[in-house]
Amino acid sequence: MRLKGKKTTLDDFRRKCREHNLSMTPQRLAIYQVLMNATDHPSAEQVFQEVKTAFPDLSIDTVYRTLATFSQIGVIRVVEGYGQAKRYDPDMESHHHFRCTECDRIVDFREKSFDNLPIPAIIKNQVVVSHVKVILEGVCEQCRKG
Ligand SMILES: [Zn+2]
Ligand SMILES: [Zn+2]
Repeated sequence: MRLKGKKTTLDDFRRKCREHNLSMTPQRLAIYQVLMNATDHPSAEQVFQEVKTAFPDLSIDTVYRTLATFSQIGVIRVVEGYGQAKRYDPDMESHHHFRCTECDRIVDFREKSFDNLPIPAIIKNQVVVSHVKVILEGVCEQCRKG
């Protein structure tokens, strides 16, 4: 489920690649497209499973490297801190996550009041905050029913 997700478009992607002198290979395009079409913040392994049919020579390492490059040039974000495989997010607009602790699903949602959360002074004086992401955890609808 993605609520009104405004993702980076393919045009944005092309432009960013050009800006960073990253050549647009069919592999890179395929990897990016998998992410664009995914709604569940896939891991590198999941991305790899999706593209390997079309590109049998592609290795998981290449997928990892490509995803790292994508996050460096700012077309995807790494969703950190869940203690498992890194997950990737093509939605670069400010949004928040609900993570199910049972099935590990990550659901996007938007909430203006969360975007504007006041930064506590103790943090504000020490660091520069570039974006705010609220992560809610609990049990998703499907798991509650299950
Ligand atoms: Zn769940
Ligand atoms: Zn997200």
